[in-house]
Amino acid sequence: MKQPRTIIFASHNAHKVEEMRRICGPAFRILSLADMGCDTDIPEDGSTLAENAEAKARWVYERYGTECFADDTGLEVEALGGAPGVHTARFAGPACDPAANVALLLERLSGATDRSACFRTVIAHIAADGTLTRFDGIARGTIAGSRMGDAGFGYDPVFIPEGHTRSFAQMAPDEKNAISHRGRATAQLIDFLQSSLQ
Ligand code: IMP
Repeated sequence: MKQPRTIIFASHNAHKVEEMRRICGPAFRILSLADMGCDTDIPEDGSTLAENAEAKARWVYERYGTECFADDTGLEVEALGGAPGVHTARFAGPACDPAANVALLLERLSGATDRSACFRTVIAHIAADGTLTRFDGIARGTIAGSRMGDAGFGYDPVFIPEGHTRSFAQMAPDEKNAISHRGRATAQLIDFLQSSLQ
């Protein structure tokens, strides 16, 4: 049987790593930063999602010299003029506390009639020869009035994807991944990986 292709995913977020492994399937061996014995917090101080994803992938490539990718995700809320966007992880402060982030979002949107929002993911992939390629995925939806469900992570309990009545946190992992920002960006990454020789 063909050996799975090993790729480093520049993330410390165990939920995201698990989600990514599930999306990529058995043809890929996704190694997290923890698997590499790396506990460095790679700076995410870019002004766009693409800058952050590229910086994380470059950091890993420079350190390990091997094929890798990184992602960065932002939640853009219409009534907040596109915020929190690139500041999504730190919306309620530097502690990056998901419960506090969700609580602040619900507070900011209290009474808002337009609750439309989208999640956007940018993936930056660096091939073994150092070539960088980017992929984007978007999931449109609305922000619920209160938390719904407790699966998933981050803002999942308050994000209801377009065409659905349940939040991401009320969906099975495969159901979320089929329509999510990260699932869509990763599907493009997988197509690209399958068509590129390593
Ligand atoms: P990062 O891409 O890991 O930096 O994530 C930025 C912020 O978006 C963090 O607060 C995450 O919890 C949140 N986030 C990223 N992806 C998702 C998702 O799929 N669902 C809900 N929240 C997410």
